[in-house]
Amino acid sequence: MSNYMKLELSALSENESFARSVVAGFCLPLNPTLTELSDIKTAVSEAVTNCVVHGYKRKGEDKTITLECSIRKDEENGVGELHIVVCDNGCGIEDVERAKTPFFTTLEGEERSGMGFTIMQAFMHEFSVESEVGKGTRVTMVKRIGAQEE
Ligand code: ATP
Ligand code: MG
Repeated sequence: MSNYMKLELSALSENESFARSVVAGFCLPLNPTLTELSDIKTAVSEAVTNCVVHGYKRKGEDKTITLECSIRKDEENGVGELHIVVCDNGCGIEDVERAKTPFFTTLEGEERSGMGFTIMQAFMHEFSVESEVGKGTRVTMVKRIGAQEE
């Protein structure tokens, strides 16, 4: 079984909970545990929040987030895989490796702890960030479900 979705949404904080609910609903056919669902929702929230708070700085620009998900399930062993891509067309990140460092933030003093990327990495099985200054940022994450590794 495999399935795919793509959603374009405004980069507004109101859409953070919407985006995480969409992904949670979409992956239900993989029968995730509550812990897996919570991990996925947290990672999606962090990725979407980053697009909202860091992605767009210029006034009047079109602030859009693209969310893509796909699931695949091996019917024989019941193991599933959820792929998530969260993209913006915003300012991009100058130094991605530095941005991924725990506690690194460019918004100090604004209630940012610099832990978003670290949380995504911890809660998902695969995580990567591609970014180009002036072009935007793409976060790719994979969660395997039902693999009985816990
Ligand atoms: P927290 O997530 O804990 O609230 P944070 O957002 O600053 O704080 P991370 O999510 O780890 O921490 O991101 C680290 C840094 O990477 C950000 O401070 C920002 O400079 C940069 N960054 C992350 N996502 C984007 C993005 N979509 N566009 C531009 N810069 C980004
Ligand atoms: Mg963040």
